[in-house]
Amino acid sequence: MAMMGQMMAMPLLISSLIQHAARHAGDTEIVSKRVEGDLHRYTWKDVELRSRKLAQAFARLGCAPGDRIATLAWNGYRHLEIYYGSSGSALVCHTINPRLFPEQIAWIANDAQDSVLCFDLNFLPLIEKLCAQMPSIKHYILMCGRSHMPAATTIPNLLCYEELVEAENGDYQWPLFDENTASSICYTSGTTGHPKGAVYSHRSSLLHAFASAMPDAMDCSAKDVILPVVPMFHVNAWGLPYSSAIVGAKLVFPGPHLDGKSLFELFESEGVTFSAGVPTVWLGLLTYVKTNKLKFTTFKRTVIGGSACPPAMLATLMDDYGVEVIHAWGMTELSPLGTLSKLTSKQLLLPPEQQRKVLEKQGKVIYGIDMAIIDDEGEALPWDGEASGNLVVRGHWVINQYYGAKESPLVDVKGQGQWFPTGDVATIDGDGFMQITDRSKDVIKSGGEWISSIDLENIAMAHPAVHEAAAIASRHPKWDERPLLVVVRKPNAELTREELLAFYEGRIAKWQIPDDVVFVAEIPHTATGKIQKLKLREQFKDHRLPGA
Ligand code: ADP
Repeated sequence: MAMMGQMMAMPLLISSLIQHAARHAGDTEIVSKRVEGDLHRYTWKDVELRSRKLAQAFARLGCAPGDRIATLAWNGYRHLEIYYGSSGSALVCHTINPRLFPEQIAWIANDAQDSVLCFDLNFLPLIEKLCAQMPSIKHYILMCGRSHMPAATTIPNLLCYEELVEAENGDYQWPLFDENTASSICYTSGTTGHPKGAVYSHRSSLLHAFASAMPDAMDCSAKDVILPVVPMFHVNAWGLPYSSAIVGAKLVFPGPHLDGKSLFELFESEGVTFSAGVPTVWLGLLTYVKTNKLKFTTFKRTVIGGSACPPAMLATLMDDYGVEVIHAWGMTELSPLGTLSKLTSKQLLLPPEQQRKVLEKQGKVIYGIDMAIIDDEGEALPWDGEASGNLVVRGHWVINQYYGAKESPLVDVKGQGQWFPTGDVATIDGDGFMQITDRSKDVIKSGGEWISSIDLENIAMAHPAVHEAAAIASRHPKWDERPLLVVVRKPNAELTREELLAFYEGRIAKWQIPDDVVFVAEIPHTATGKIQKLKLREQFKDHRLPGA
């Protein structure tokens, strides 16, 4: 019989993070730009005390373990308190993306059977319209002080967040329970069909937080000032509210103020060293910084993920602004981090251009995640940087089921058991660096050959007159599909279809060059800031390619 270890079995609980931060980084600041417009500052110690009071308030409202506490809120200190106050007391924190359509918000709240909804001031009109459609919600809490409460509202029994917190004495002990208890729920954005819920556990969230803070991942430390641009409603701001507590970093929250000017000013005034966000956010910030000839003085590195980081953006941040870009890949079903691109000591000996090629990839898995690429028969493909296949993953923070689903989403990899299919198509090189070529549904299938839409977009984004580009499949009588490029030009820039197509010569195989270019004023984005390919394909479904 195996011999058992004799170590303490401390459950991995989210409350332990906030207790640790309060004890060991108690006077480190949390700074928030509020919806109300002003700047709020307090410390990790205050977060912990107020989270305890909030846990008491939830209990007083009759919330019982397992109840879902929904949020509709920007990045800010009250949102952070809800993260800890709910999960810490065995309730389940359910962050809802306010950028979704109102019907989707109601659908998600009903699917999760939320019993409480906490929301920021600017969502008051939205909730007034929606509350009749969300019968499971017993309590609505407006995240503000008494002076901002509306004089009249159609929301039944609207509660004031500050009043609830202030009514409690904080005499509360974080309970101990099974680490596999649900801690939070995030829904995928539902670009195909209904959104689906990923239910994280305390254990998975803590292991994700440990791993993501490591040097070859996000490299977080107590010396950092971290500004998550990625919203707390987008896969828990990629776990930063948890990993910041592990290391005791200062946190800066931008609230709803996500335009280039507001972000830049906050980066500078608070001495931000590290940030994270999707490429579209950096487009806005970089345009502002460039136009106004500004420089970052404290900002050192950023994680970019959620969609492919165009190499041109990586180059601008690294070469013009001295900001290290860590390209990362992940998804809601992975809490979200899967891979990050950081150079190994072997790669640090490579010439700079080759290093850049590595950094442009989505990177290596962090310990805790295992990946493979498989063909349509479930056979694993070689890691040679050439073979491309369906990316599958498994690990400590990968879902094994969607909330409320009857069927398992997992697939068999021959001889290696059950894995989660990501829906992405990728290559993996001999050093274990993964590169996404496409989402399987976005890949352009031309005469049986695949063309990577990401490759086509990356080339367009390297043209100085291009602000944003999206490559989609367009119907073709002979080839079935051919690439069509949809482009937004930079303000006042001149660029013709022919000039842009000529730019592709020598940068990609001739047969992969787009058949046509259309210029538009704006490219549609999803609620998490990704290009909405489905909508674009719909918009251009009758587009006639030249010669087709
Ligand atoms: P949703 O699937 O609901 O849009 P997620 O944020 O979970 O929301 O999206 C995960 C998907 O985003 C991945 O499966 C992948 O297609 C894409 N993605 C994430 N990071 C990257 C990246 N660095 N490069 C390319 N695609 C990415």
